Amino acid sequence: MPSPGACSHIMRDDSKFRRGRGEENEEAAARREERRRMVERQLRGRGIKDPRVLAAMERIPRHRFLPNPDHPAAYGDHPIPLSCGQTISQPYMVALMTECLRLTGDERVLEIGTGSGYQAAVLAELAREVYTVERFAELAAQARSVLEELGYGNVHVVVGDGSEGYAEAAPYDRIIVTAAAPEIAPPWLSQLKEGGRLVLPLGDRWGQTLVVVTKRGGKITQESLCGCVFVPLVGKHGWRGE
Ligand code: SAH
Repeated sequence: MPSPGACSHIMRDDSKFRRGRGEENEEAAARREERRRMVERQLRGRGIKDPRVLAAMERIPRHRFLPNPDHPAAYGDHPIPLSCGQTISQPYMVALMTECLRLTGDERVLEIGTGSGYQAAVLAELAREVYTVERFAELAAQARSVLEELGYGNVHVVVGDGSEGYAEAAPYDRIIVTAAAPEIAPPWLSQLKEGGRLVLPLGDRWGQTLVVVTKRGGKITQESLCGCVFVPLVGKHGWRGE
């Protein structure tokens, strides 16, 4: 198994720092327009209704979370490769999973699989405190730096095996797993508060079902939403590293 801290590094493009002011404003306006269209067509058009989720995704500069912020399809209707063989999820999947969490603004949320940090930013806009766990130190560092640049002081990026949850800050009102899980890892259930919700892609390596788990009166109920495909969760309660 390769060391999770080490993987090929894609340099961030800093060309935006060399541009003139006017050009930068033009570019910001173009990106805003791309976001507006993304929200209209990909999210609202497909049934995402939570106004807070829609507004957050219209605000957050998704392109800043990519290895190349000038990526022409940063707001495209598909996942995009990151370094370390990982991907940032399709905007619709981010919106759907976030909507399923039913955030009101007061929650403490755990995310498993920081990746680019984009989903963490969406959570940070909609909840009180976000803990996000990533197994690759390099991805965690990159995500941490963008989240800091954008002023998200309520996100804590942790390097570790998220299949064990993150006991240090438990319990959580909500847990979101953004890597494919072969099972509902027992630590997630024990770290979830009474009345809490857990959203995860559950299944085998090549295809999963998006599942919403609720914990009420000590009882666990499970609702299946739709098919999905995520990169594998690698760890104690996930798959073995490759
Ligand atoms: N939410 C991310 C996308 C996640 S891709 C975003 O918004 O960009 C899935 C991520 O889960 C990858 O970065 C992968 O390295 C990470 N991952 C896989 N297994 C993990 C584990 N056991 N603990 C923590 N992170 C894990």
